[in-house]
Amino acid sequence: MADRTLSDSTCPETCKAICCRYIVKRISPPRVRLDWDELYWFLCHEKVAVYIEGRKWYLLVNVPCVHLTRAWRCRAYPERPDVCRMHDPGNCEFTGEVDFQDYMESPRDLIRLMEKRGISYRLPWLGRGSRPERTGPGTDRPVSGSAKRRA
Ligand code: SF4
Ligand code: SF4
Repeated sequence: MADRTLSDSTCPETCKAICCRYIVKRISPPRVRLDWDELYWFLCHEKVAVYIEGRKWYLLVNVPCVHLTRAWRCRAYPERPDVCRMHDPGNCEFTGEVDFQDYMESPRDLIRLMEKRGISYRLPWLGRGSRPERTGPGTDRPVSGSAKRRA
């Protein structure tokens, strides 16, 4: 991925290396009050998102890889990590289907999900008038298809 000049890459020329501009890590689904509190804390940070795919939960941070060039090429392509090698350009953020159940990029998104699921713990930020919306940079949704899996 990210270097369409190499013969083993099938990435379209029109993709600007979407998959090289974030990291993602599988996380445990929230089960108790403190888990939801931690998710809220995650989502109070810029460039952080949480999404659910099937029954699996993921934490995503929108940060570009240091090996990505301004021309959307990987300067470390021969030595790139296995997670990059395993990412399938045939079913990726650029070419794949959108299959997220829920994509949350702000505290408000999390609160909406909790309301939808009928979850009402006594948490200070669940109170009336405490629904901040992130306004800083990093709020763009970068992923429109299958993200890298790092279980
Ligand atoms: S998002 Fe898909 S097409 Fe774009 S660089 Fe990554 S694997 Fe290739
Ligand atoms: S090492 Fe290369 S292929 Fe892997 S994320 Fe970084 S720029 Fe992309």
